[in-house]
Amino acid sequence: MNKKLFVVSGSSGVGKGTVLKAFLSKNPDFMLSISCTTRSPREGEVDGVNYFFMTKDDFKDCIDKDKFLEWAEFAGNFYGTKRKFINKCLEEGKDIILEIDTQGALQVKTQMPEAVLIFICPPSLEDLEKRLRGRHTEDEETIRKRLNIVKEEIDRAKNFDYKIVNDDLQRAVSELEEIIAGEQG
Ligand code: 5GP
Repeated sequence: MNKKLFVVSGSSGVGKGTVLKAFLSKNPDFMLSISCTTRSPREGEVDGVNYFFMTKDDFKDCIDKDKFLEWAEFAGNFYGTKRKFINKCLEEGKDIILEIDTQGALQVKTQMPEAVLIFICPPSLEDLEKRLRGRHTEDEETIRKRLNIVKEEIDRAKNFDYKIVNDDLQRAVSELEEIIAGEQG
């Protein structure tokens, strides 16, 4: 049985990880796709669980051999989803969600038009800017860079199937559940 592919994207700082975590704990039949990345593991991240960590050379080799369904460069590192991994999950009838950036999401849609793209956005750009500034963790230049990426992502999200405003976690999770249930028919 072939299943639908759900792709969730959202700007960093918008809380998409929290929304997905809450969704997955309520819907254990769904699995999150495991991506490949060239970035170093963060503390506590495990190879083959959080990501498949690989070198830039190995990643480029996979690009050359057309092994990725989609890939993108994000903040100086490469991220990609292996075609074989997704096809195997779909053939096995697994409900699968990809949590990837907007560039990758649009590549997936081109290759698999039946994929459902969902964008999680902040209540407003002002709200996100306030949150970024309130953290006091980035300098002015970094904040501006991040806000520019956010604007680009919101622009790309115009081509997504659904948008969820994350102003309230429970509401955002319920909306995600409704969208997915509706698409599954
Ligand atoms: P992080 O380094 O914080 O884990 O992820 C950085 C960004 O890369 C996030 O926006 C995340 O959604 C995105 N990302 C993770 N895996 C993939 C992937 O396989 N493909 C693409 N295009 N983006 C990914």
